[in-house]
Amino acid sequence: MIAEDAIRVLDHGFVRLDDAMATDLSVVNAARVSFARRKEEMEEADEGLIRFLMRDRHGTPFEHNSFRFHIRAPIFVAREWFRHRVGSFNEFSMRYAKATDDFYVPELEDVRSQVGKPGAYSFEPVDDELAEKTREEFREVYQHAFETYERLVEAGVARELARSVMPVGAYTEFFWTVNARALMNFVSLRAAETAQREIRRYADAVEQFFAAKMPVTHAAFVAAERVAP
Ligand SMILES: Cc1cc2nc3c(=O)[nH]c(=O)nc-3n(C[C@H](O)[C@H](O)[C@H](O)COP(=O)(O)OP(=O)(O)OC[C@H]3O[C@@H](n4cnc5c(N)ncnc54)[C@H](O)[C@@H]3O)c2cc1C
Repeated sequence: MIAEDAIRVLDHGFVRLDDAMATDLSVVNAARVSFARRKEEMEEADEGLIRFLMRDRHGTPFEHNSFRFHIRAPIFVAREWFRHRVGSFNEFSMRYAKATDDFYVPELEDVRSQVGKPGAYSFEPVDDELAEKTREEFREVYQHAFETYERLVEAGVARELARSVMPVGAYTEFFWTVNARALMNFVSLRAAETAQREIRRYADAVEQFFAAKMPVTHAAFVAAERVAP
């Protein structure tokens, strides 16, 4: 079941903000502690301060906050995500629990071809026949893999071993706790045109939660051409 406050992503995924301790004021107060000053409310001048910190890449004041996300994504997306070392992860375990039978099947319009050279690929739509055939092939492989997995577990093979047959299109779940600085680094890289389309959709969802909690910081990030401080 997908929680009401989650943003749905892909066919079975979501991003949900489980909790947050994140305000624009935390950035301002972290910067002003240098002068032994503290504010209870944001003022207009503070917005300028945040823009200055962002523009000049004074990154540390953006670290005094925290977002805890609950995410459901295909394993191949999670694998890209886990490369972001600044942050904490805990993931669903296929050693301890039974694997899910939810697998990622791209929408017709997301089946694409890859044209060009490494570093300069463009992704073009394919004709409907190939797109539909691709989706069918995905489903067949997933079904076969999952049936094999279930059969092996039923026969007494350990889950930790049987999971080897599961494709990277299978969904996993994880918690991700991150501060705004590392979050902006993630969004700058993964919501960019150069990122893979699937993780990009997740990065867009993460960005929506970020913008809602820290609107001034988010606006400054956008104004700074989405370069993380
Ligand atoms: C479009 C795209 C294509 C990619 N392709 C590949 C690929 O083909 N192969 C591959 O292996 N990876 C690939 N990656 C992953 C990429 O190399 C990074 O591992 C990933 O984006 C995490 O970025 P990060 O290190 O900035 O983030 P984090 O690990 O969260 O780090 C945040 C920041 O902390 C600092 N930092 C963290 N650790 C260190 C450290 N050890 N030393 C110095 N500074 C540190 C850096 O300033 C870093 O930017 C790709 C990423 C993208 C976006």
